[in-house]
Amino acid sequence: MAGIYIHVPFCVSKCYYCDFYSVKSGSNEISSYISALSNQIKSMVSGNIDSIFFGGGTPSVLSPAQIGRVIELISDVGRISEDAEITLECNPEDANLNYLTELKYIGINRISLGIQSLSDRVLKTIGRRHDSLTSETAVANAIKAGFDNISADLILCLPGESSSDVNKNIEKLVKMDLPHFSTYMLSIPEGSIFFNDIPRGLSDDDKQAEIYLETSKKLRSLSYEHYEISNFSKPGFHCRHNLKYWKCQDYIGLGPAAHSSISGLRYSFPKSIKLFEETYKHSMPFEIALSTLTPEGRVDSTDYIIMGLRLSEGISLSSLYQLFGHTLSAEKLYLLKEYKDMGLVNYDGDYLSLTLEGFLLSNRIISSII
Ligand code: SF4
Repeated sequence: MAGIYIHVPFCVSKCYYCDFYSVKSGSNEISSYISALSNQIKSMVSGNIDSIFFGGGTPSVLSPAQIGRVIELISDVGRISEDAEITLECNPEDANLNYLTELKYIGINRISLGIQSLSDRVLKTIGRRHDSLTSETAVANAIKAGFDNISADLILCLPGESSSDVNKNIEKLVKMDLPHFSTYMLSIPEGSIFFNDIPRGLSDDDKQAEIYLETSKKLRSLSYEHYEISNFSKPGFHCRHNLKYWKCQDYIGLGPAAHSSISGLRYSFPKSIKLFEETYKHSMPFEIALSTLTPEGRVDSTDYIIMGLRLSEGISLSSLYQLFGHTLSAEKLYLLKEYKDMGLVNYDGDYLSLTLEGFLLSNRIISSII
C-alpha cells in the first residue's frame, strides 16, 4: 500500500520561522496548479493507496470542490482503500464550520490544525494570521463537523514561551478531546525571515531540554502514546501517513517541492511552480513522469536508522541486516551498551529504541552509531 503526499504550494503570507516552499495564492495560480496536479496524478498514481496527505504550504486555500476533484482523480487511477487515512492540513483561520463540513463530505477524515501556540502575543511575534480564539473555534468546528481524528500542531520553544505556557496550551486542547499532537521544536532555517532577523526571547539549550521533557511528560501523563520523538496520540490515532516516512516505506509526492520514495529510490520535484506547470501541461507515461523528478539516491541503512529511531518502537538490528546486508559494528554495539547503562537507549540484543532522555540527545546518539 502506498501513501500519496500532495504539496499545495500557496500561502497568504509567510510565517517568520518557515522555509517551506510556497508562493502567494490567487485564484488563477490555484487553477493552473490544479490542472498540472491532475496531469501528474494521471501520470504517476496507480495501485493500492491507504493514505493521502494534503500538506503545504496551505492546503486550506483550496476549495472543497478542488480537493474533492483531486481525491476523485486519484481514485480514477488508483484504488483508495475503504479505511484510507485522508488528511488535510488546515490553518485555523480557514477552519469555519461550512468549510470543514464540506471537507468531511468529500472524504477528508483527518484534520491537522496549525495551532502552534495559544498565546496571541507569541502568534503575532511569529507572523501567524490567527489568534488563540480562532484556534479554539477551529477545534470546536472540526468536532461539530464530525471529525474524530484531529491533530494539533504546536511549536515548542517559541520566543518568550516557557514550559508552563506550553503546558497550559496542552491542558486547554486536551480538554477539547484532541486525539493527536505534533510538537516540533522551533527551528530557524536559512531562507526564513527569522534567519536574518533573530527574534528576542529564544530558549537556550537547557530551557529547550526542559520544555521538551515537560511537554512529553505532560502528554504521557494524560494517556497519550509518545509514539514518535515529536508526536503523541491516543491509542489508534497514530498518523498512518507519517509512519510511512519514519518506516522508510514507499510514498508518492505530488506537486512542486514534493519528495517521493518509490521502490526504495528517493526523488524530489524542484521548488518551482512555474516548472511544475510547464512539465505537467499533459499527462505522460509513468517512466517519463519519473524522469521529470530529481533522483536523490537509494533509501539506505543510515536512513533506516535515522528515521526508525525517531519512533518509540525503534528498530530491529536483525531487520537491518535482512534489509541491507549488514548490522552495527562491534565498536558501535559497545557504544549501545554504554548508552543503555546511561539510561539513553533500550536494547535487548535486537530491538533498539531511544528512551525519553535519549530522544533529547537523539542527534548525538544517532550520529555516533551510523
Ligand atoms: S508555516 Fe505554514 S502557513 Fe506559515 S508560511 Fe509556512 S507553510 Fe505557510
